[in-house]
Amino acid sequence: MTILCYHAVQPDWESPMAMEPQAFAEHAEWLVRRTTVVPLQSAVRTVGRDGRLPRGTTALTFDDGFAGLHAHLTPVLSRLGIPATVFLVAETLTDAGRAVDWVDTPPPYPLATLTLDQVRDMQAAGVHFESHSYSHLDLTQLSFQECVDDLTRSRELLESLLGHPVRLLAYPRGRHDASVRAAAERAGYSHAFTLPETREAPGPFAIPRVGIHRGNGVAHLRVKTARPYLGVRTSRGYRAAQHAVWTVRGARR
Ligand SMILES: [Zn+2]
Repeated sequence: MTILCYHAVQPDWESPMAMEPQAFAEHAEWLVRRTTVVPLQSAVRTVGRDGRLPRGTTALTFDDGFAGLHAHLTPVLSRLGIPATVFLVAETLTDAGRAVDWVDTPPPYPLATLTLDQVRDMQAAGVHFESHSYSHLDLTQLSFQECVDDLTRSRELLESLLGHPVRLLAYPRGRHDASVRAAAERAGYSHAFTLPETREAPGPFAIPRVGIHRGNGVAHLRVKTARPYLGVRTSRGYRAAQHAVWTVRGARR
């Protein structure tokens, strides 16, 4: 199984993090034709102790909950009838809000995140939501207790707003270590997702995803969905293809 990690889908933000809507629609159409797209929350129930998921399926995930998803993601998912999971920064849904200050390549205007009304609208259309922490901090820089507190706060707020258990976590920027993984488990999560760029051991609290960036066409997608887990031996031919395609980097957030 390949878990794809996107961020924004919006036309007016030139960043590795933001897919053009038309390019995303082409990805989704290709995925429907060539793979079985499954809901992440049910796929993880089959995860092994080694963090591996069944072969031949794909799940779509979106980090950060940018507002453009409401207009540019939901209609595509509805038209094609495919599931997706959006990982929300819980603090963005509080009355005080949370400005988006964690992006390395911001546009010249403030980035908006989904409002609660938009989240509910998307839920009604079948989009699933889980946790991307409370404040999008680098969890590896927090103490164990600070990390447990941030992740618990996110889970509890999101559960009250979404009306379902929140058990899945995408680490901000994919960053984690043994203390962060233990904190995620202590905070009540069942599985957590990373964005590995180097070899790292998979497990239920380190399930790898593959980042998809602006400029990645269907050819990139073909290679990335064929990509086995990092840390798993790959064929020489595959490695050559990966080397040719992995030219767009740096959107690890
Ligand atoms: Zn993020």
